[in-house]
Amino acid sequence: MSQTISKLSERATQVFKQQIDAPTAAFFSSCVHCGMCADACLFYTETGDPKYTPIHKLEPMRKVWQQEYTLSGKLAKLLGLAKPVTDEMLTEWEELVYDSCTMCGRCSMVCPVGNDLTYMIRKMREGMAASGHAPPDLAGATRRAVEIGSPMGVKLPALQAQIRHVEEDTGLTVPVDVEGAEYLCMLSSMEIMNFPEYIGAIARIFKHAGVSWTLSSEAFEATNSGIQIGVSEIAAELVQRIVDAATKLKVKTVISPECGHAYTALRWEGPNLVGKRFDFEVKHILEVLDELRVAGKIKTKGKITERLTYHDPCQISRRGGVVDQPRNLIKEFSSNFVEMPDSGVMNWCCGAGGGVSSNERADEIRIKVFQRKKDQIDAISPEALVSACSNCRIHIEDGLEEYHMELPVLSLTETLAEYLDDAAEAQT
Ligand code: SF4
Ligand code: SF4
Repeated sequence: MSQTISKLSERATQVFKQQIDAPTAAFFSSCVHCGMCADACLFYTETGDPKYTPIHKLEPMRKVWQQEYTLSGKLAKLLGLAKPVTDEMLTEWEELVYDSCTMCGRCSMVCPVGNDLTYMIRKMREGMAASGHAPPDLAGATRRAVEIGSPMGVKLPALQAQIRHVEEDTGLTVPVDVEGAEYLCMLSSMEIMNFPEYIGAIARIFKHAGVSWTLSSEAFEATNSGIQIGVSEIAAELVQRIVDAATKLKVKTVISPECGHAYTALRWEGPNLVGKRFDFEVKHILEVLDELRVAGKIKTKGKITERLTYHDPCQISRRGGVVDQPRNLIKEFSSNFVEMPDSGVMNWCCGAGGGVSSNERADEIRIKVFQRKKDQIDAISPEALVSACSNCRIHIEDGLEEYHMELPVLSLTETLAEYLDDAAEAQT
C-alpha cells in the first residue's frame, strides 16, 4: 500500500515538474505572500474562503517547485521532512483549479511583483489533466471536440440546417468554402445552437460593408477544449484544423467569434501551440467591425435610448486588449451608454469562463459568485446589457434568472446589424 502511494506521489511530482518552466519558477520565487490576489478573485470575494486565494490554488505545483528546484526544499526532501504531493492532494485541488477558476486573469493584474497567476493556472491544469485529475464533464467535452469537431457535439449537418434557416429569414446567402474570401469566420457551438442570429448578423453586416467572407465546412468550431482542460497537444490539434482550413481557402484573416476563450486560444496561444507563425491574421469580430466602422463601411440609423451597459468578456478585454472597439461600436447604436464600475480591463468575470460552464459540478459556486456581477449591474441599474461572448450571455441570463432580475442581454454584433442603415448600403 505505502509503495503504491509513493509511486502515485512520484508520478504526480514528475507530471508537475514537467510543467515548471522558467516563468513559473520565477513567479513562485517572486511571491511575497501579500495575499493581494485574493481580493481580485470573485471566488474569494464572494465566499470569503481563503482556499480560493489564487496563489493557494497552485499549492501542489508550488510544493513540487520548492522540493525539486530550491536548495531548502531539496534538503528537506532528502531528510524526509518534506510532504510529497499525493494523488489525494490533487483530488482535493481539482475543485480549486477547475470549478473555481475561470482563468479570467484578474489576479494577474494586481500582483505587486507581476506574477501571471493565470499563466500558472494554465500550467497547473496541464499537470492536473496529465495526472488524471480533470473534471469528467470537461473530459467529455474535450473528447467530443477531438472526435466530432465540437465540444457540444455539433456536426456539419446541424450547421447546414441553421444556415438554411438564416438564409430563409434574411434572404441572404451564407457563403461556405469560398476560396479567396477575405475573411474566414469561425463560430462557437453555442452560437450555432443557441444564437444562430449571429450568423444572420454577420451576413447582413458583411453585405452592407461590401466585404467577402466565408465559413468553412471542414473547420467551423472556434472553441478550444484543449486549453480549458489543459492538454496542449489537443489544443494544438484543434488550432491546426483552423490553420488548415484558412490555408486551403487562402483567406487573409480568420475572425474569432463572440466567444472569449476562442480568441485567446487562436490569437495568443495558437502560433505557439502549432510551433509556427500563421500565414493569416487573427482578429476578433469586434476588431473587424470597428475597422470597418473607421473605414466608413458601417453606417447605422437610429439609436437605443434606454440605459445600455457593456459586459467586458475577460478574454476579449483583459487578456485580449479589445476594450475600445466595443465602446466605439456601441456608440453607433446607443445614445445612453453607461459603464459599470470596474469596467474595461478590470471587469469582473461572469463566473462561467475557463470551462466552468461546461462543468456541471461547478454550477452551485458559479451561481454564488454571480453575486459580484449582480452588484456591478445593480450599481448602475441599466435597462439592457450588451456583450460579445455567447458563453457570458448564457451565463448572465442564467444568473439574472437565479437572482430574480430582469434585464435583456444582447449580442453586440447582432444589435449592430439591427441598426444598419440599409439605404447607406447601396453607396458603399
Ligand atoms: S484567474 Fe480569475 S478566477 Fe482564476 S484565480 Fe485568478 S482571479 Fe480567480
Ligand atoms: S499577489 Fe502576487 S505576491 Fe501577493 S500572494 Fe498573490 S501571487 Fe504572491
